[in-house]
Amino acid sequence: EQIITFEQVSYQYADGTMALNQINLSIEKGKKIALLGNNGAGKSTLFLLMNGILKPTSGSILYNGKKLTYKRKEIQRLRQQVGIVFQNSETQLFSSTVYEDIKFGPKNLNLPTEEVERRVKEVITLTETESLKDKPPHFLSIGQKKRVAIAGIVAIDPELMVLDEPTAGLDPYYSKRMLNLLEKIHHRNRTILLSTHNVNLAYEWADEVIILNNGHLLAQGTPVEVFSKR
Ligand code: ADP
Ligand code: ADP
Repeated sequence: EQIITFEQVSYQYADGTMALNQINLSIEKGKKIALLGNNGAGKSTLFLLMNGILKPTSGSILYNGKKLTYKRKEIQRLRQQVGIVFQNSETQLFSSTVYEDIKFGPKNLNLPTEEVERRVKEVITLTETESLKDKPPHFLSIGQKKRVAIAGIVAIDPELMVLDEPTAGLDPYYSKRMLNLLEKIHHRNRTILLSTHNVNLAYEWADEVIILNNGHLLAQGTPVEVFSKR
């Protein structure tokens, strides 16, 4: 079952930069997918297309088998279903406490208060942020901010979690801790797509690997398939 399918998708920025060139790919439900690519390969552009912040300049994107039409309601829903944790996610934290920050997303879904509270408690446990919940996000370490940003997105309960270089800047111990967290998130029956420069991480962690280079898709397949061809 495919959550997202790209059919011949291209994206060109206003200045003429062809960030993505005729991309065909699919994201299958429940999979752990690693997106590899150098700086400028088109990874961020791909993410922004996935949750409808950008619209392809040509080609189409299907969500759960339905072609996106970019109506306002549809895009609002898509942004809840595809949760993105950006690399500079710490700049997205703006509440006075960690607790309030994590609560922000689910609160905006117009859920009953008890359900909002239940979700916030659940993700605080999941992300091991109990000791941080009353602190101002501003004073946390980079790794802590990342966990809080992830908690906030998980609390929205998206169908697909997209993480932009979740282990960048973390030392080996905290990278391992981050991967343990992603493992727990995956066990809640979520599909995870992450970008990384780390080939070993992609090889060991992912069910599937996508390689982007200069706006072109070089390969998509299992780590063994993809890396044995290179
Ligand atoms: P990555 O995330 O893999 O580093 P990006 O998707 O950010 O790659 O960028 C792909 C290409 O598009 C690069 O050549 C980049 O310079 C260009 N690009 C990104 N954002 C813009 C923009 N707003 N305007 C023009 N070009 C852009
Ligand atoms: P606790 O283990 O109680 O959560 P720590 O201060 O040991 O408290 O770590 C909290 C978070 O801070 C970690 O989950 C990690 O994400 C981040 N962190 C701490 N030290 C580092 C470091 N050297 N590099 C990256 N992240 C770090």
